Amino acid sequence: MNRDIDHILIARGAISDRVRALGEAITEHLEEVDAEQEIVLVAVMTGSLIFVADLMRHLPMKIRIQLVTASSYIGESTASNNNPSIGELPDVKGRHVLLVDDILDSGKTLTRIRSELELLKPQSIQSCVLLRKKLPSAMEVPCEYVGFEIEDEFVVGYGLDFDGYYRNLPDIGVICP
Ligand code: 5GP
Ligand code: MG
Repeated sequence: MNRDIDHILIARGAISDRVRALGEAITEHLEEVDAEQEIVLVAVMTGSLIFVADLMRHLPMKIRIQLVTASSYIGESTASNNNPSIGELPDVKGRHVLLVDDILDSGKTLTRIRSELELLKPQSIQSCVLLRKKLPSAMEVPCEYVGFEIEDEFVVGYGLDFDGYYRNLPDIGVICP
């Protein structure tokens, strides 16, 4: 284990089982609503990098991947202006959209991107996050698929960073205090 990691919260095996289950649930839903099942997968960079790579291999339908950038964190805490800056959004008019992010914390990022995507008139939109913190702010945000509920602590690994580091760790863990 990396020396900076205090303990592992979710091990790689549990992540992979859960990601498969999320993929199956999303597929089942889309098969029900639309026999054609073509989707635009909108992945919020950079934290969802590994999650989205694994998740999309459990989605057998026709998919276009679009990346959007969002940043609200500086080091360990949400930036004081608290308004995530969002990059350019893809054209999703008339499409089924699956919005994918790493973690729901304040919920500002997902709320903001989802409401802006809705203005572009997609046929449907659903959100999927790997992690959701047990915080009122995070629980209030509409999100159809959640991998794991976690306590309110700062986690890294499996795409999630601290100051740009630790994204490459295969497990999700908590860094040493
Ligand atoms: P929000 O507060 O808008 O829900 O989350 C914004 C972004 O902050 C998330 O997409 C994620 O990239 C980052 N973030 C929130 N909580 C954590 C955390 O515990 N660890 C890491 N590494 N990033 C986090
Ligand atoms: Mg993020």
